[in-house]
Amino acid sequence: MSNAIAIAARDLCKVYRRGTEEVVAVNKVSLEIKEGEYVAFIGPSGSGKTTLINILGCLDNPTSGSLDIAGRTIFGQQKAVSERELTKVRRELFGYIFQKFYLIPTLNVLENVLLPCTFYQKDNADERAVALLQSLGLDKRMKHLPGQLSGGEMQRVAIARSLINRPKILLADEPTGNLDSARSHEISHVLQELNQRDGLTIILVTHNPELAKTAHRIVELRDGRMAV
Ligand code: ADP
Repeated sequence: MSNAIAIAARDLCKVYRRGTEEVVAVNKVSLEIKEGEYVAFIGPSGSGKTTLINILGCLDNPTSGSLDIAGRTIFGQQKAVSERELTKVRRELFGYIFQKFYLIPTLNVLENVLLPCTFYQKDNADERAVALLQSLGLDKRMKHLPGQLSGGEMQRVAIARSLINRPKILLADEPTGNLDSARSHEISHVLQELNQRDGLTIILVTHNPELAKTAHRIVELRDGRMAV
């Protein structure tokens, strides 16, 4: 882990309005995540985990507070970057994986992994996709459709897809939520390797204590706040 700061959040708040009612999903969260750090967010359902990591991952905007990614202000007093730049930040800096793998059922494994390159072609994408799938033990599954795979394999395809554009930060929202314990263990091992071997910064949300334990730091949320 380096001393450089990947993500700096200050006083982040997210307020949802439901009719006249206000829900404070994230309440004054300040934290720094270093480059190469692996941070797990835990906490009961409704405590704000998904809302918070979506903001940290630039998928959602805060109601107030500031966010810097790799030293650049993304949200601040005045919104600092345009929608176009935000798209660029998401595409170039982040990889995303979710509980529901979000694979396209009519595309084969290789095509799913190459999907992010449709709009953002990087050199040697095909070879890279094959190499990623091989490194994730999916070399014999490249031409399979998602429906022909196990849950663990589908999540590994989603991981390969998230890595195709060489992200610096991987955001993982309940990546083992749909998997049995053996498959969860596999995914946990993959994430650890990506962090330790490749230096990827990882931000994870999980209910799985075994998975959370593999992170450098566990942050607990309660009612939108960081528990101390
Ligand atoms: P967690 O991931 O810990 O389960 P969430 O971030 O999903 O928590 O939700 C935090 C709170 O914000 C909950 O009370 C939830 O109902 C509320 N919330 C989340 N998304 C929305 C939304 N789009 N509109 C209104 N309320 C929301």
